[in-house]
Amino acid sequence: MSGILVVTEHRHGEVSAITNEVIGAGLSMKKKVGGPLMVLVISDCPNTYANSLSYEGVDEIILARVGSDYFDSKIYGEVVLGEAQAHQPELILLGHTVNGMAFGPALATQLGGGFASDVFEIDCLEGEIVATRAIYEGKAFVEVSFPGACVTVMMLRAATFPAPEEMAQVSLSQSSLDLSEISADTNHIKYIEPPSAGIDIAKSEFIMSIGRGIQDEEHVSRFAVLADRMGATLGCSRPIADAAWLPKAHQVGLTGKVAASCNLYIALGISGAVQHLHGMKHVDTIIAVNTDANAPIFNVATYGVNMDIFELAEALERQFN
Ligand SMILES: Cc1cc2nc3c(=O)[nH]c(=O)nc-3n(C[C@H](O)[C@H](O)[C@H](O)COP(=O)(O)OP(=O)(O)OC[C@H]3O[C@@H](n4cnc5c(N)ncnc54)[C@H](O)[C@@H]3O)c2cc1C
Repeated sequence: MSGILVVTEHRHGEVSAITNEVIGAGLSMKKKVGGPLMVLVISDCPNTYANSLSYEGVDEIILARVGSDYFDSKIYGEVVLGEAQAHQPELILLGHTVNGMAFGPALATQLGGGFASDVFEIDCLEGEIVATRAIYEGKAFVEVSFPGACVTVMMLRAATFPAPEEMAQVSLSQSSLDLSEISADTNHIKYIEPPSAGIDIAKSEFIMSIGRGIQDEEHVSRFAVLADRMGATLGCSRPIADAAWLPKAHQVGLTGKVAASCNLYIALGISGAVQHLHGMKHVDTIIAVNTDANAPIFNVATYGVNMDIFELAEALERQFN
């Protein structure tokens, strides 16, 4: 057993961002695990994705031509199982996504291997693969190893591992499995896209987020106008999105978006629960404003301001009018 097998996700004819990140994670582990880094594409036209997957350090792209371009858990489960048995990788990497969840745990069981989901760090210590993942709904982290596992399947958290940048010529190979025998369990009818909120938290460089400290829905528009005047994207904590005071697309955190491109994050009336911190604690400059001097958000803030957000709003409105 050696090498790493990455399973590609794609949609609308494009490789999903999570796959690039998973390849990045695979490349960072390649030397430690040993063996080749293989990337598997499953589609009715897998060659169309080959160029986008041809990163420096990838040894082989395996093209599995099946009856459809759409994801089907049975097809993916069977093809990945067959490729894993054929290539014997030590590590199989998938995205921690709805697609990954639909076949990853079953795959690990069928292979008799180890399994970890929601992994945000991987390492190889004294020859043993170690994954760091969240437990207790993100309130604590745990390191897990897989003693005796011949192969380990890991699902990696999005917006956590850097995608590689350098492209290269990578050799392509056709899957040697008899794919004609593999049929889908489902019939894809159509994608239903979420309504556009006109913002992208993951791409914004400057985010001003509001939390339960704004107290009432009627105050949302005031902070929305202020954010707009300051040139910030309006973000929020989960209670604000759960109450439908803002669309879900504004939510920062574990079950929202990660502020992946943000340089400046202003947190207004947000306590700093670990699930919120997950989406923003990496930001270079964090300004937190809270009436509670002991609020956990101050533990990650570059600048902490112990004051009422409505008083601050008044001062900012005078400045940015
Ligand atoms: C599985 C799971 C996933 C989750 N995912 C997310 C997620 O993605 N994103 C997320 O945000 N949360 C998430 N949560 C919820 C999270 O645990 C917290 O409940 C949430 O982040 C709290 O939001 P908040 O800080 O706005 O509210 P609170 O914790 O109620 O904090 C409000 C803060 O406002 C301050 N405040 C009040 N009035 C004022 C004022 N006038 N001026 C200044 N400060 C004031 C208070 O001192 C307090 O610190 C998740 C929870 C679970 C269990």
